[in-house]
Amino acid sequence: MTGETTMQHLPNAGSGGIVTAMAERIVANKAYLSEIDGKIGDGDHGVNMAKGFGMAAERLAGKDASLGQAFAALSEVLMGEIGGSMGPLYGMMFTEFSDAIEGKDAIDPQTFGAMLRAGLEGVQSIGSAKLGDKTMLDAFIPASEAFDATIESGASFADALAAMESAAETGRDSTIDLVAKIGRAARLGERSRGVLDAGATSCALILKTLGEGAASRLTDG
Ligand code: ADP
Ligand code: MG
Repeated sequence: MTGETTMQHLPNAGSGGIVTAMAERIVANKAYLSEIDGKIGDGDHGVNMAKGFGMAAERLAGKDASLGQAFAALSEVLMGEIGGSMGPLYGMMFTEFSDAIEGKDAIDPQTFGAMLRAGLEGVQSIGSAKLGDKTMLDAFIPASEAFDATIESGASFADALAAMESAAETGRDSTIDLVAKIGRAARLGERSRGVLDAGATSCALILKTLGEGAASRLTDG
């Protein structure tokens, strides 16, 4: 690209539909996520997630919420209404996402990157898991890093969103070879190797929907 670079941004107002799309994707994958969780966990991940995301979508229906408002509504439901490890962990992620874009009309790539990092820090502050522990973080950490690295390289917001999505999927797939170090599956030790992690799978779905939804709403100026 030559000459002046145009600064793309994601409008906050009216982008709450991204959360509705997340809910649709999670609900569509309810059985799959529970099946994965059933191999090394207790088989409730899809049920928990579909319940929380489905309730959030109901609350948002017909509201034309901003992205920040939609993240806040999702967080409230996840923290308050769903069981399992993922309620508080994803609840924290979406609270941090909402706070990071609060008061911003135009979400630029720097703000978006900071939002991902804030969500990550929130999850780690309550869950204490690290990269390689076979959790959602194995999708989330590389996704956040890929987004930042792509922006730093001078590429576009859209390219960084695509890099985020694909790093999340590669990270999800990396969990197959990992032994769970934290959470319910850690009790299995070596026997937890050989299957996907349920949380990493849902996290990749969430980030894919976030990336696609953001990319389709990017505006110049
Ligand atoms: P539970 O384990 O209570 O049944 P879920 O089935 O809803 O809860 O979620 C399981 C997922 O939670 C795991 O696949 C893993 O990705 C994630 N997880 C568990 N503990 C942690 C943690 N401390 N930090 C991040 N993610 C975690
Ligand atoms: Mg479970």
